[in-house]
Amino acid sequence: MKGNYTSLGTYSGINAGGNGKMSLGKSIKMYLTIFILTTCIYMALYQYHISREPFAASEVVKHQEKSSSYIASYLWSPISLLMANSSSNTINNSITTTTTTTTSTTTAPTATTTRTAGQKLTASASIRMVSLAATIPTLISSSSDLRSGSLGGHPQKTATTKTTTTTTTTTTTASGLATATSTRTTTTAKTSAKTPAATTPTAGHMENAHKTRPTFVAASVPPPLYIITPTYRRPEQMAELTRLGYTLKHVVNLLWLVIEDANITNPLVSHTLDRIGVPYEYMLAPMPEKYKQTKKAKPRGVSNRNRGLEYLRQHATEGVLYFADDDNTYDISIFEQMRYITKVAMWPVGLVTKTGVSSPIIQEGKLVGFYDGWIGGRKYPVDMAGFAVNVKFLKERPNAQMPFKPGYEEDGFLRSLAPLDNKEIELLADDCRDVLTWHTQTKKNAPAQELNRTRYKNTNLEYIDKLLVRP
Ligand code: UDP
Ligand code: MN
Repeated sequence: MKGNYTSLGTYSGINAGGNGKMSLGKSIKMYLTIFILTTCIYMALYQYHISREPFAASEVVKHQEKSSSYIASYLWSPISLLMANSSSNTINNSITTTTTTTTSTTTAPTATTTRTAGQKLTASASIRMVSLAATIPTLISSSSDLRSGSLGGHPQKTATTKTTTTTTTTTTTASGLATATSTRTTTTAKTSAKTPAATTPTAGHMENAHKTRPTFVAASVPPPLYIITPTYRRPEQMAELTRLGYTLKHVVNLLWLVIEDANITNPLVSHTLDRIGVPYEYMLAPMPEKYKQTKKAKPRGVSNRNRGLEYLRQHATEGVLYFADDDNTYDISIFEQMRYITKVAMWPVGLVTKTGVSSPIIQEGKLVGFYDGWIGGRKYPVDMAGFAVNVKFLKERPNAQMPFKPGYEEDGFLRSLAPLDNKEIELLADDCRDVLTWHTQTKKNAPAQELNRTRYKNTNLEYIDKLLVRP
């Protein structure tokens, strides 16, 4: 062995120094230098190869932070360690939401855990998590395998709709709304009642399509949102609910209270809500006959909203309520802003009256009045889409409700929240300098004409026909 070293040393020595002879120490140094140089070149080439991979660096960090290949890439590439200085912050910050990040890629309705117990999320972290978790058609429920806040075994809330009978019951449970301090996302199987005589194409069609229904349990982080949506039977109804529903699907920890102005529930509504996958309660609140009969303007959606308030008084303990009519348009950032209000919040609403917008007027950061095309002696000339109320604040005012007074619904309800000083009203949407909600109106469509059943027998039109809302 020694001989070899000597001979090699001699050979290298000739090239390096031309001295003919070189000591063993020097030749080892030489070889070490060559080895290190070769390794560096190899690493540089490896780094170059990695940089040409189709994945963005951030994606690799997000989805492979625990994988061996990720660690291996650090071992193999010291240059990565240098680069990691910038990304390590991201890793540290995302540690608490790791599970969420990973499961957000899951689209299967059997998606499981998205959040772990004892998470401490900052406001910004929870907002980031919101958008990630929102891709899963599930809602938070508790689990006994978590350290605290277990609500294990809460019953499934199901609006049981029997298409063969005229009466339909909506059952809700208080436990479904209890506050959980630690949360886990699950999808629970829907125990839908099979139609005994499934003779119509729709019955089987709808039953088969949706076997699951998300369950809602309010979580303390972030505060729950209760969205009260009045709706009523008309050709546009499913289109409106679908559009609004998929907007709400981007928002976590939300319970959608869909309340229909009707005496019986409509299986088509349940079907639509099931398909969307936002946790919901489907309830009924018909407009009192005396208002239905009137030739004058009707108090539209009032009985529905009051039913929603009643539900919150019974079941909710914290969070925020918002009246979202089924035909309006909402930027989801308003939901993340309203979540944290403590009393009442207001903001501008686009497409209202001749002024094109209804908004609080803000001067030097203070609410000094209201801008609306019609004031009508109202103390709060605002639109239904332009305010939200904290649930605790509402519950401290047991008589607060909406009056059956067309044009004065918002004003009457907000007045009923007294005592409320203008100074206490929180201003959202960039201090009311932005428009995040719009009072849109859908063009009315004529009811669909009867299908010629003889002509279209045994075609898909028999199925589609069952999905149309007729008067
Ligand atoms: N609405 C209702 N029953 C009715 C008419 C309307 O429940 O007879 C609901 C409707 O679905 C909407 C809200 O009440 O969510 C406001 O009604 P609409 O959009 O017709 O009123 P507008 O916005 O034009 O004032
Ligand atoms: Mn409307």
